[in-house]
Amino acid sequence: MNFIVVGVIAPLAYFLLRLVIKSLVQNFILNLNRKSNVAEVKECQNCGVFKPVKELKKVNDSFQCLDKCSNE
Ligand SMILES: [Zn+2]
Repeated sequence: MNFIVVGVIAPLAYFLLRLVIKSLVQNFILNLNRKSNVAEVKECQNCGVFKPVKELKKVNDSFQCLDKCSNE
C-alpha cells in the first residue's frame, strides 16, 4: 500500500517542484535581462551622443536619437 502511495505522489511532487523551480529561474533570468537593458547605452550615429537604448531607435544596424537629436 505504501509503495503505491509513494509511487503516485513522488512523481507528482517531483513534477510540481520542477515547475516551480523552472518558473523561479525564468523570473530570475527575466529580471537580469531587464536590469542589463536599463544599463545598456549606445551611441547615436547622427550626433555621437551616448544614450540609453530606450531613448534610441535602430536604423540599419546602428542607433539614432528617438527625439531631440543634437544633429537635426
Ligand atoms: Zn542623435
